[in-house]
Amino acid sequence: DDAQVRELVESKLATIPDFPEPGVLFRDLTPVFADGPAFHALAEALTAPFAGRFDVLAGVEARGFLLAGAASALCGAGVLPVRKAGKLPRAVLREEYDLEYGTAALEVHEGELPPGSRVLIVDDVLATGGTVGAAARLVERAGWTVAGVSVAIELEALGGRGMLAGRYDVHSVLRY
Ligand code: AMP
Repeated sequence: DDAQVRELVESKLATIPDFPEPGVLFRDLTPVFADGPAFHALAEALTAPFAGRFDVLAGVEARGFLLAGAASALCGAGVLPVRKAGKLPRAVLREEYDLEYGTAALEVHEGELPPGSRVLIVDDVLATGGTVGAAARLVERAGWTVAGVSVAIELEALGGRGMLAGRYDVHSVLRY
């Protein structure tokens, strides 16, 4: 059940103080990815609440790619890679979002999915919500629908859920 999944994932999760800079408590999923049963359980838990409500998984570069890919293999949905700027070879839509210092941008190929496709956005960590918010704007500008947002870890103090609230169904496997 849910509690068992949370316990298994949490037992593998690494937490690193002051990375990549002082004051940040970094949540590192690489030991979860390295453990077959934990990764499998996490991938399943990301999509289970949205069963029957999405056509495609959008994974945000780079850790979201791993999660979306694993979940795709389990549930049979396709994957839309939401990439950092400058990586995709055909015509793209671009959305900028704020980082602590400066901005970053995400891109998708326009026309990659049929109009009206229901897209579940997947990422490792929801912090301020800037990253996932940009991915959601891309999905909508492209003419698709956001089926929801599913993350492995939600950092509640950073307010990401509030930023996305009301507009999207937000699910997290672990919350801190
Ligand atoms: P945000 O746009 O503020 O929601 O930040 C989310 C993105 O930053 C995710 O793609 C994460 O990979 C990364 N991130 C932010 N905070 C952390 C953290 N404490 N530990 C690990 N990754 C983080």
